[in-house]
Amino acid sequence: MIYQNSYAQLDARLYHRQSPTPLTNPRAGHFNSEVADLLGWSSETELMERWVDILSGSYVPNGFEPLAMAYAGHQFGQWAGQLGDGRGLLMAQVLDQNGQLKDLHLKGCGLTPYSRMGDGRAVLRSTIREYLCGHALNNLGIKASDALGFVVSDTPVRRERMEPGAALMRVADCHIRLGHIEWIASFAPDLLAEFTDYMIDTYYPDCRQSDNPVAAFLQSVVERTAKMIADWQLIGFAHGVMNTDNLSITGSTIDFGPFGFMERFNPGWINNHSDHTGRYSYQNQPAIGHWNLNIWLPHFMRLPNISRDILAECLAHYEPTFMQHYQQGLCQKLGLPHSQASLQLAFEWLTLLEDYQLDYTNSFRALSALVRQSSEIQVTEHPLTQEHETALLATLKQELSADSESTQVWQTWQSQYLALISANETSSMLAIKEALTMMQQANPVYILRNSMAQRAIEQAESADSSHQHGANSSNGLAEVDRLYRLLADPYQVHAFAIISDTQPPDIDAPALPISCSS
Ligand code: AMP
Ligand code: MG
Repeated sequence: MIYQNSYAQLDARLYHRQSPTPLTNPRAGHFNSEVADLLGWSSETELMERWVDILSGSYVPNGFEPLAMAYAGHQFGQWAGQLGDGRGLLMAQVLDQNGQLKDLHLKGCGLTPYSRMGDGRAVLRSTIREYLCGHALNNLGIKASDALGFVVSDTPVRRERMEPGAALMRVADCHIRLGHIEWIASFAPDLLAEFTDYMIDTYYPDCRQSDNPVAAFLQSVVERTAKMIADWQLIGFAHGVMNTDNLSITGSTIDFGPFGFMERFNPGWINNHSDHTGRYSYQNQPAIGHWNLNIWLPHFMRLPNISRDILAECLAHYEPTFMQHYQQGLCQKLGLPHSQASLQLAFEWLTLLEDYQLDYTNSFRALSALVRQSSEIQVTEHPLTQEHETALLATLKQELSADSESTQVWQTWQSQYLALISANETSSMLAIKEALTMMQQANPVYILRNSMAQRAIEQAESADSSHQHGANSSNGLAEVDRLYRLLADPYQVHAFAIISDTQPPDIDAPALPISCSS
């Protein structure tokens, strides 16, 4: 691997150098060979042979320079002061096979000076959720951290109950959070200029071409954040804890805690059960992104050539960038060109999904079957895809045939939709095919439903407890592996999928409680 530990060269007040605290009796959880190949990890015999030792913290290879980063943040709208890596360490920074900088960050590897009241550990449950979520988002095409793998251990960790301790090697383009600047502003303001130069040179080198590189950098952070949140809204992702310490300066999704993927469409959905006011509900995410940037930007007024007006101009890019990406993406999900008429129809569709509590992912995907069936021309698809989409459309129609009102709403909407589809020069086979391709690339078949993650967790935990009692059992990670393979290619129908992979909860089912406790 090509090490480039540039963060470790920065001022020593910004971090604390230390080694991980090993887990007891570690065992392999899951290993992501694609990420390993990308990093160049796979070509090093020692790293491949000792990956469990490395992830469990008992072995630190040459080239690694582990450190805990200091940062601060606003949590749930309140200034929280100093936070920092309380249970994770930046182990190394490397150049991947594409020449991109990647951070290797080990989460769950023991106490640091920033642990506050915590124990420095992560539990198996949340480690599996983070592992699968990063993998899912990356393969859905959303910028996010991924992971090299995770290990499980006999280290007991107390949450609401005792749980097995685990550790995950997170791989992300960057671990600098908005909260890093908040920390510097409060605790080491003399470092702001140097740190800003580091962020620009490392992550936004193109901004150096601008007359005002800092302003160009800030505008780019604003735009990338807006784009990331538009991607979340389109795929139905709710982060759950959008504190300023959980937002990266590169617009990559990081810090998976009580996240969720939208099932039955409800814009007010609060996935995080600790979020009593719904601050981080799905529909609030775009506004919270703006709130976070608004509280972040003024720190840069300390720098020369940055005025309040310049910052206001940077922030003014947020809404149009969000709108552009979100609206464009919504039209794509319907296979329509970006236009007022398409958007009008898209918003009516979302209202329909909300009113009748339809599954967000399945309903969008079902429209492919509608378009295919309505076209005069025979469009052939892979039989599995065709069968799956046809079944989704049948379910959609059935759920909408509950009463005469819903039937009427659906009839009206679908005829307007099909009129727009065919108005869009789609009378030719090529155009219909293009619309279908566009839709199938924007509407996944599989997302990580809470119930899917839960099943994998229960299997892993029960195998783990029989292991502890000395029973001879498999390591219980077969379901994690199955989901890993399913989510590696979420836009295609897979023969090994099971019904629950595409099944929303019953309308009256109580929500699975997902809390911050991880
Ligand atoms: P999070 O909610 O995971 O983003 O964490 C917020 C802050 O609390 C960060 O500074 C974390 O490092 C810290 N933290 C969370 N859980 C623990 C833990 N079990 N032990 C130590 N620090 C923790
Ligand atoms: Mg965090």
